[in-house]
Amino acid sequence: MSTEKIPYKIYLSEEELPRTWYNVRADMKTKPAPLLNPGTGQPMGYDDLRPVFCDELIRQELDNDTREIPIPEEIRDFYKMYRPAPLVRAYCLEKKLGTPAKIYYKFEGNNTSGSHKLNSAIAQAYYAKQQRLKGVTTETGAGQWGTALSMACAYLGLDCKVYMVKCSYEQKPFRREVMRVYGASVTPSPSPETEVGRRILAEHPGTTGSLGCAISEAVEVATTTPGYRYVLGSVLNQVLLHQSIIGVETKTALDKYGVKPDIIIGCAGGGSNLGGLISPFMGQKLRGEADYRFIAVEPASCPSFTRGRFAYDFCDTGMVCPLAKMYTLGSNFIPSANHAGGLRYHGMSPVLAQLYHDGLMEAVAVEQTKVFEAAEQFARVEGILPAPESSHAIRVAIDEALRCKETGEEKTILFGLTGTGYFDMVAYEKFHDGTMTDTIPTNAELEASFARLPKVPGQS
Ligand SMILES: *Cc1c(COP(=O)(O)O)cnc(C)c1O
Repeated sequence: MSTEKIPYKIYLSEEELPRTWYNVRADMKTKPAPLLNPGTGQPMGYDDLRPVFCDELIRQELDNDTREIPIPEEIRDFYKMYRPAPLVRAYCLEKKLGTPAKIYYKFEGNNTSGSHKLNSAIAQAYYAKQQRLKGVTTETGAGQWGTALSMACAYLGLDCKVYMVKCSYEQKPFRREVMRVYGASVTPSPSPETEVGRRILAEHPGTTGSLGCAISEAVEVATTTPGYRYVLGSVLNQVLLHQSIIGVETKTALDKYGVKPDIIIGCAGGGSNLGGLISPFMGQKLRGEADYRFIAVEPASCPSFTRGRFAYDFCDTGMVCPLAKMYTLGSNFIPSANHAGGLRYHGMSPVLAQLYHDGLMEAVAVEQTKVFEAAEQFARVEGILPAPESSHAIRVAIDEALRCKETGEEKTILFGLTGTGYFDMVAYEKFHDGTMTDTIPTNAELEASFARLPKVPGQS
């Protein structure tokens, strides 16, 4: 097979759609640190998490040992609406760059939500439905997760309450409307509807909200409304598990043609697409079967990996959620306005945090104007209009390909193209008008935020 010319797009058949998710934690020597109860500092077990999360999802969250977890047939049927997703050999980009590198990208934008988030949304909605719940609550920043969850809930007949960061609610009315097409209720956060929302509004009148604040509101509503649970679109172990479908499909497609990537790149907000893409490859590395370079790309305005602390922190601003050990900028850190809304989160998946801490993965931070330059270069040759989040990965893939041009190395570069940017035209407009800026937090700002990290016994 390996002598065959590689097609521009490798499509798997529906038959080849994976039957199991791959749980990379099973192969990790150092497991990700457990979630802690913020009151007692003790690890949270199944019973502690039940008021907040769906039962089966808690089992998945806590399962560090089962390597393969079967994907229920109903979820596979839903996946077939938009999966298997194509793996594209970026011949046009390679030619344009004049690089000897071979570039591949896995395209996850081929569904109405416009991103990979639907992969976990349908799984989480499915387990909520199985538990006979009435509905779920969540937060959304840029709107992709809320859209994905509303689609999944509509399909299964579940109620969906979305708390949307107020500035996005106002700036992205079309995203909000898509969610309403799928029957979700969308509330701007902070809202006067919740106790935590009222508290935040009293403390910070006129605030335009943050993801951490919207999480607090959604959790409060889930825990105080009978028949509801809270669901989260990134960061958690269970979300990385669901997103492993990205990596498993990619590996199946590459194996068919005998292709082995040297470098695997993904943008990192909470870490779910990157974690999902690299999982099966990381598994090989952990088992000593193969070696790869993994690169997480984050915005310079919100540099959790490259400048954050590896410490326990709150996942939300209202401090109602469990503590998670991650690379964090502090739950009080409010990143400057950045057009990659999906990457503006103060923390990072505990799985990826541990892998990074153990030296199994690298990270780089990039500035947003450089990201949009790469986005436009990509759009003009490959056709797809990329999401600003995804374009972080494009930036670093191009940089690595240009390095190959200098050295003459024919490396194989794989990156995750997580979504499309049709709802981000204001950002593209600013880029074209030359009014886009790059804001990088100062060390003093970060130190002030680190000083407010929670004190956890046994943590320095
Ligand atoms: C949400 C989002 C991301 C970042 O989230 P991760 O959990 O880090 O994957 C990246 N790209 C797009 C298009 C998104 O919507």
